[in-house]
Amino acid sequence: MDFDLPEELADLQGIARRIAREKVLPRARAIDETGEYPEDLFDVFRQAGLLGLCIPEDYGGSGAGILGLALAIEEVAKYSNAAALMLLLTRLPTGPVMIAGSEEQKKRYLPAIASGTGRAAFGLSEPQAGSDVVAMRTRATPDPATAGGWILNGLKCWMSGVAQADWYTIFAKTGDPSSRAHDSITAFIVERAWQGVEVGRIDRKMGVHGVDTGELVLRDVHVPPENVIGEVGGFRLAMLGLNAMRPVVAARGIGLAEGALMYAVDYVKDRELFGKHLADFQGTQWKVAELATEIEAARLLTYRAAWLADQGRFTREWVPFLSMAKYYATELAVKASGMALQMLGAAGYMADHLTELWYRDARQLTIVEGTTEIQLGLIARGVMDRDLWWD
Ligand SMILES: Cc1cc2nc3c(=O)[nH]c(=O)nc-3n(C[C@H](O)[C@H](O)[C@H](O)COP(=O)(O)OP(=O)(O)OC[C@H]3O[C@@H](n4cnc5c(N)ncnc54)[C@H](O)[C@@H]3O)c2cc1C
Repeated sequence: MDFDLPEELADLQGIARRIAREKVLPRARAIDETGEYPEDLFDVFRQAGLLGLCIPEDYGGSGAGILGLALAIEEVAKYSNAAALMLLLTRLPTGPVMIAGSEEQKKRYLPAIASGTGRAAFGLSEPQAGSDVVAMRTRATPDPATAGGWILNGLKCWMSGVAQADWYTIFAKTGDPSSRAHDSITAFIVERAWQGVEVGRIDRKMGVHGVDTGELVLRDVHVPPENVIGEVGGFRLAMLGLNAMRPVVAARGIGLAEGALMYAVDYVKDRELFGKHLADFQGTQWKVAELATEIEAARLLTYRAAWLADQGRFTREWVPFLSMAKYYATELAVKASGMALQMLGAAGYMADHLTELWYRDARQLTIVEGTTEIQLGLIARGVMDRDLWWD
């Protein structure tokens, strides 16, 4: 067993840490206040090669895998979860293409993500179908004009990066619309420039400003046969793609928790009250120790989950390990940001400090890509089915 990062990943971690401190930290507050997409940071990430971390070398990326991407995201999320989300979006929509796409799809769509000349987003959720994804109503019907082609109609919502994307991974019902069978759903690559594709309402949200979340409206969109990802009825793809993403979302959580704790520690060492520093009180020290321990526990869960995903172990039997990382790290982000804010008192509540921003941003993490409750259900099922068992 080896807990040390291989040299190339340790180097990557160092590069991402420097970029996070020098480029991301100074921009975090302004991104939140203006809500404008930080093109400058996208450019920094592009130049540093961070947009191609999860893309294999054959398709223009660096092949650093899920673990490489998670390490970079952890560093960036110490200061800005919006910037971390920009990196995450290099994997979320491309995952199904990498897992089951055709060679032609990989060659056509992946190199642009790695080079930063293209962006993508992931459309699974619908207003009435979040956790309950099979309740989706977006429908694909066979295109009478093109053999093997499809016509899509529907509405996707809460889609991260919807406004910046050039293409979307979209899930739609190809079978009976009222069916709850998984093989009634298929994944498609849909280009933004196609007729009938329109960005709808952009959400007003609590945090993670700067990367828009919003609707995608699909009206009689003609999708050619070569843009079906995997096989028709291959909904399993969405689940496999999301399973492999658990450590990536978890990395946003551990980075945020680390950033918040480090900030609070610097503050309590400086803050004077009752003739001492706040850091001198045992009550404060125990909070610091508790969070530091939980951060390290979350990191171990996350790095192992990333390693598993990179070994292709993101199928059903590995789900509990992947879900644990997402559940634990994102709940920790909420807890750590709340405790950090509390340690700063009134100052922590004010926009003069990043604590209130971390607190708002953290709340997104326990909802996206499978809520805490959904992860707990998956972990429990894994234990009941003995995928996770200890004898
Ligand atoms: C900022 C943001 C960005 C997002 N980006 C994307 C994106 O890029 N692409 C995309 O497709 N979606 C995206 N989403 C949507 C996200 O995936 C969904 O919000 C999530 O899946 C939950 O669905 P829901 O909001 O409809 O909640 P619901 O499914 O309605 O759940 C409501 C509550 O009930 C709980 N619950 C659900 N089932 C159970 C159960 N069986 N037992 C107990 N409790 C349960 C849930 O955990 C939750 O707390 C984003 C959401 C947000 C907030």
